Amino acid sequence: MGNTTVYTVRAPYHVQPPNTGICRMLSVFLLFFIIPLSFCGLTHGFSSKVPKEGYEKRRYDMVAMQIVARGIKDEGVLRAMRQVPRHLFVPEGSKGSAYGDFPLPIGYGQTISQPYIVAFMTELLKPGQDDIALEVGTGSGYQAAVLSEIVKDVFTIEIIPPLGRAAERRLKELGYENITVKVADGYYGWEDHAPFDCIVVTAAADHIPPPLIQQLKKGGKMAIPVGHPFSVQNLMLVEKSEDGEVKTRNILPVRFVPFRRTWK
Ligand code: SAH
Repeated sequence: MGNTTVYTVRAPYHVQPPNTGICRMLSVFLLFFIIPLSFCGLTHGFSSKVPKEGYEKRRYDMVAMQIVARGIKDEGVLRAMRQVPRHLFVPEGSKGSAYGDFPLPIGYGQTISQPYIVAFMTELLKPGQDDIALEVGTGSGYQAAVLSEIVKDVFTIEIIPPLGRAAERRLKELGYENITVKVADGYYGWEDHAPFDCIVVTAAADHIPPPLIQQLKKGGKMAIPVGHPFSVQNLMLVEKSEDGEVKTRNILPVRFVPFRRTWK
């Protein structure tokens, strides 16, 4: 009875309830079509999934303004860059700058690369979901995490033991189960898991290590900065054709920390 009273009081202020048949059809449409679709994340156009605050929002903005705006198109790469929590790969005091358009120090004189460079190198490799990837220069583990969102397995080598161990712990805590870290000189690659569909080197060497070329699969690609420390380096793309022929191309002038052969 109470309900009836409320309805009669409110009725004059509302549009009259339309034809109940249409009402029923509309609710059926909402209930069985739109609501289930939104659970599957398929209503992109209707209800935006873009986060409104916090680190996730900064990450989406980073992808839009630094990465998409500069021409990165590969959907897998963009998805990975939106997914990996970069602020958890930098020292505590740098979290607020984690989504800035620059590299950041990670200790031991090393840096986590600028987000755009990570995206650019990853796109260059054209990684596929069944690929086995090798990274030389684990650093914080960020590039490995981005790759691991796309490929099947990532093997990554770091020459500075405390950095390698910290990255291994961090990746484990964050639940990355398809990344294996090893502390060693990456010059020799990782014979046990070769050949690799893609190889990414994140320190600048003065030549391309022959073992890495050898461990690249036929049809595979390697991205490597080549050049002397503190001078202009070139990001090179090395491609091995199906018949084993190796071609190298200069892609972009870059600046990376030096490839080293020992720690200290
Ligand atoms: N990919 C890293 C960036 C790391 S900076 C990230 O996403 O954070 C480059 C790293 O390469 C440094 O940590 C450095 O110690 C490492 N490095 C340099 N020479 C190396 C070598 N020969 N083998 C393995 N790692 C090397």
